Amino acid sequence: MASLLKFSPHNIFSRIPGTDEYYLVNLLSGNADVLKSEKAQEILEQRYTDVDEYTAKGYLVVPSEEERTFRRKYADFLDARDKDELQIFFVPWYTCNFACGYCYQETYGHQPGIPPTGVIDAFFNYVGRQFADRKKYLTLFGGEPLLSGAPYRSVITRFLENAGSAGLETALVTNGYTLEEYVGLFKQYRIREVQVTLDGMPALHDIRRPLKGGGATFERIVRGIDQALAAGLTINLRVVLDRENISGLPALARFAVEKGWTASPHFKTQLGRNYELHSCQKDRQKLLSRLEMFEELYTLIQRYPEILAFHKPAFSVARFLFDEGKLPRPLFDSCPGTKTEWAFDSTGNIYSCTATVGKSAEALGTFYPSVTLDQDLISKWEERDVTSIAACGTCALRLACGGGCASVAFNETGDLYSPDCRPVKELLGMGISLYFNKESHDNA
Ligand code: SF4
Ligand code: SF4
Repeated sequence: MASLLKFSPHNIFSRIPGTDEYYLVNLLSGNADVLKSEKAQEILEQRYTDVDEYTAKGYLVVPSEEERTFRRKYADFLDARDKDELQIFFVPWYTCNFACGYCYQETYGHQPGIPPTGVIDAFFNYVGRQFADRKKYLTLFGGEPLLSGAPYRSVITRFLENAGSAGLETALVTNGYTLEEYVGLFKQYRIREVQVTLDGMPALHDIRRPLKGGGATFERIVRGIDQALAAGLTINLRVVLDRENISGLPALARFAVEKGWTASPHFKTQLGRNYELHSCQKDRQKLLSRLEMFEELYTLIQRYPEILAFHKPAFSVARFLFDEGKLPRPLFDSCPGTKTEWAFDSTGNIYSCTATVGKSAEALGTFYPSVTLDQDLISKWEERDVTSIAACGTCALRLACGGGCASVAFNETGDLYSPDCRPVKELLGMGISLYFNKESHDNA
């Protein structure tokens, strides 16, 4: 039996930074261990003294048996995903009142305009028919969906009314500038959450996210957040990070704590990364790679642990493991596009997700004025996962990585089935150090 055993190709094994310990994580078997250096040395030399334990934990496997487990868990993953809730984005217009330096929609060249009411009705008809059997919620996206002025407001009101009639919740992604004006309206409808972006304290935020034509925006957004929270709406505060503003994160975190936001059950946060999604960045020097961003966060959090009261970064599956005491299910696919996410815009086009919405050459079909679907292209999107991306086939990281973002992969190579690799090993190492190995950085 022992001779049949192999070190699982799904083992992720690496050193924990700042220590001489290693971690061993296997998403397929669902086990994770921290190993002393002597035990790690045994693995490096492929001589195992804990064969029974390692076999029980799926670190040592009979390959044919592990293959059966892989197939079973893949089938479970597909089943669970089919039952997952859909997030359906709708872009009422691409017009925006901000001039953010990093806006990826900036070069799309869309015409401003209010959509005809027929578009909204056609959207709700399509969603009702096409996704009849799925759990789902809607998300208004832009451009900026919450513009000032009666014509814009009446479209948003009509949308929320339709959503209410269909029994669906609506989330909003907004720059937050007019949130104050909209809070009263939102109280009348089922709003799941409002995502608002602040990129730091005023000195940073107002440079990065000014009004079109100039003008500060921080103070008004903060008032909008205060009012939304007071009205019981959920705020999901997003910070888009790059080299220019990442060092301002501790100050923003302290501000959110002092405002009492982080104590609210209706307050959530997310950190986004400024990256070259598909248009040219004016200043690419500012961009952080995914690894660089997490390295910066790792260093910043050690120095300013108060950041964790504001946001606990995922560091791959490390935060989940710490919070839940177990690993998440294997991630055969990390890209929700066309599986649990779709995006629609007021030109009548249908897209995979927010990364492609507005790029008419990448539309997957139309819902207005008539329904057309590029079924071949949709199938290509639907079938992209770590079992269909050739490069992922032998990658030890695949069940933590999930193959990355299809849109990023396509933009880089022209091939949807190319990988968008995540630095899983490094992220796990930092996350385990940060969340589990407090001693190592208490002494750092
Ligand atoms: S995208 Fe890259 S890192 Fe991720 S599973 Fe595929 S090959 Fe591995
Ligand atoms: S293509 Fe990228 S942005 Fe779009 S759903 Fe997939 S992972 Fe998300």
